[in-house]
Amino acid sequence: MRTGEVVVVGAGPAGITAAVEASRAGARVLLIDEGPAVGGQIYRQVATELRPGSGAGGNGYAADSAPLFASLAASGVEVWSDTEVWGIFPDRVLAIHRGGRSMRLQAGGLVLATGAYDRPVAFPGWTLPGVVTAGGTTALIKSQRIIPGRRVLLAGTGPLLLAAAAALVRGGAEIAGIAIAASRTAFLGLLRRPAALGKAIDVLATLKRAGVPMWNGHGIVRVEGREGVERAVVAQWDAAWRPVPGTERVIDVDTVVVGYGLMASSELAQLAGCDVTYHAGQGGWVPVTAPDRFMATSVPGVFVAGDGAGVAGAEAGKLQGELAGLGAARHAGKLTDGDAAARAKAPLRDLGKMASFRRALERMHAPEPGLFELAEDDTIVCRCEEVTAGEVRQAVGDGARLVTEVRAATRCGMGLCQGRLCIPTVAGLIERYAGTLTTSVGRLTARPPVRPLPVTALADEA
Ligand SMILES: Cc1cc2nc3c(=O)[nH]c(=O)nc-3n(C[C@H](O)[C@H](O)[C@H](O)COP(=O)(O)OP(=O)(O)OC[C@H]3O[C@@H](n4cnc5c(N)ncnc54)[C@H](O)[C@@H]3O)c2cc1C
Repeated sequence: MRTGEVVVVGAGPAGITAAVEASRAGARVLLIDEGPAVGGQIYRQVATELRPGSGAGGNGYAADSAPLFASLAASGVEVWSDTEVWGIFPDRVLAIHRGGRSMRLQAGGLVLATGAYDRPVAFPGWTLPGVVTAGGTTALIKSQRIIPGRRVLLAGTGPLLLAAAAALVRGGAEIAGIAIAASRTAFLGLLRRPAALGKAIDVLATLKRAGVPMWNGHGIVRVEGREGVERAVVAQWDAAWRPVPGTERVIDVDTVVVGYGLMASSELAQLAGCDVTYHAGQGGWVPVTAPDRFMATSVPGVFVAGDGAGVAGAEAGKLQGELAGLGAARHAGKLTDGDAAARAKAPLRDLGKMASFRRALERMHAPEPGLFELAEDDTIVCRCEEVTAGEVRQAVGDGARLVTEVRAATRCGMGLCQGRLCIPTVAGLIERYAGTLTTSVGRLTARPPVRPLPVTALADEA
């Protein structure tokens, strides 16, 4: 079995920073990512086939990504792209799928910087071709240079929705409008915070120049169409995100972009045995950790950083990455406690300054009950197993109060995505139908493989 002094899973801003920091502390570092190139979500690079000549960038974040990529290139960190970590076993043993083969790797210090994914939202018409997520939209534009449609309506909350809108405008799409759940005051309040201001000004200027209508306190109701999206229905939303009767407006579009926040990808941390806690505004079940403990988790030698530790955005992710990198290097015996504490001062201070921005972001991302009331009985909730909201309601009617009980009764969460795309909605539906708070409906137990794996790779293992 191969060993790694410090292993970092996830090459987004948090993971790259952690890897570089641990390397600077003298550790031999391996950085693993399932993508074809480093960058993660925000700094996703253009697909190699499309990349004009060599070099990074082209992701709309060159000013931020280029220095980060340069520090990585200069650091001596070994990078494994196109490599999935599909399982974690005791003593920080990773199960890895690479080049069609599966292998084991034991990590000395382990940093999990696995990011987040778009919160799934079920409403009538959400499975129609032409309905895409905000994150998915930016990923498509950054890596494939493709816009998902010509005439687009966006609905959701948080800065990612605006980033998607600006990327669409720059890509040549026509924006019919943006329905933003948050009130104008709350939204502008977030964008005025130092941590968001820089990017926000560019984004808002792009949207203003394009004359994009923005409706605060509004949200999606349904999407209509036969073979694909033909029109979207939005309405004014009250504070609980419930449509206000009589305020519906119908908008002809060929694409609807939905962005109601992100879910933390914490399944590897759960597999590693880390304690997790439920935090609606940080993306659901997140590992228990703290910056002043070098982002350590409840499992010795396992550290977390970035959105996988609780959705907080790239800037907070980088600062957490620095701390986790120092923690992992110290765990690997490369730093004394004193040295580590001295190097941690600056990132700790800067994270402290971002605290109010984080809280505002969390308030904006925490879903209100109305979001889970959009689904009608025949609305598909679990796309893998084609389970409807009506079937979930039936299961709750028969006494199910936990997501595991709904899964047992309906099979939702048993498909290819292992519940990533349905369980957040099912949790909200249990609260809707039974009044049980989402904090007490439990969670699915993370099981390997956390990524679909070719059987040949498993056979390899055997
Ligand atoms: C699809 C998407 C697009 C986004 N676009 C933007 C944007 O344009 N602007 C913006 O401000 N914010 C954007 N965000 C928000 C973004 O999440 C953060 O701002 C930032 O990228 C978080 O950095 P991170 O390092 O924590 O995680 P990420 O950047 O998400 O990086 C995590 C990396 O870990 C990899 N990974 C996860 N699990 C495994 C595994 N098991 N094995 C191997 N690799 C693994 C992922 O593929 C990913 O490359 C986007 C989020 C998403 C989900």
